[in-house]
Amino acid sequence: MNAADGVAGNGTGVRGLQPGKMLVEFVGHSARRFNERVHAAASAPAHGPTEKALAMLEERKASILKDMPSGVVSFQNDTKTSAKIMVGKDPARERAVNISPHAPKCECGAFEVESFPCGCMAIVADKAGENVLPLLHVTETNEFLKRVYTGLPEFNNPGTEFLRASTGAQVPADKPLAPGRPSNKRKKSAMDAASFAAYKARHPEA
Ligand SMILES: [Zn+2]
Repeated sequence: MNAADGVAGNGTGVRGLQPGKMLVEFVGHSARRFNERVHAAASAPAHGPTEKALAMLEERKASILKDMPSGVVSFQNDTKTSAKIMVGKDPARERAVNISPHAPKCECGAFEVESFPCGCMAIVADKAGENVLPLLHVTETNEFLKRVYTGLPEFNNPGTEFLRASTGAQVPADKPLAPGRPSNKRKKSAMDAASFAAYKARHPEA
């Protein structure tokens, strides 16, 4: 879901708004999402998947189980990492699924696009007595959430501080930005550090 779908929600959506009001809605939406993450980071356990990721997995599983006759998973190898799963009653909707952490894949394509396990993968993992959680991206873990959002102050909706909401005009900043290119000696962010750690884990020889 992107911000445009997520805010307003009154039938016309944020795209139906005047540009100034639209910008205020976007900023407000981002601020609310940021604050939610700051709060989630404060109360999350130190390890494991985020509560949001777990909820999303359950939701995806439920949406497939809804029209899948129970038990239609046929394993294709002894380790039960490769399987075929029938979604619905139409044999044409059979999907090849692989839940091996080395080659996770599902024919529905969701995993490749989103790097988040689809319902098919979660169901196959359940049937195999395996855990689908190792397939979650590093950004879906509490470690990551805490590293990025711990100790940050809550972000106040800045609509009234640097935007004139009535016209959408930007209030000039107190201090102008320094001319020239931004420094490239910036500190590495937690996002950089986490993706580097994940890369190293996948490529120990690199
Ligand atoms: Zn799938």
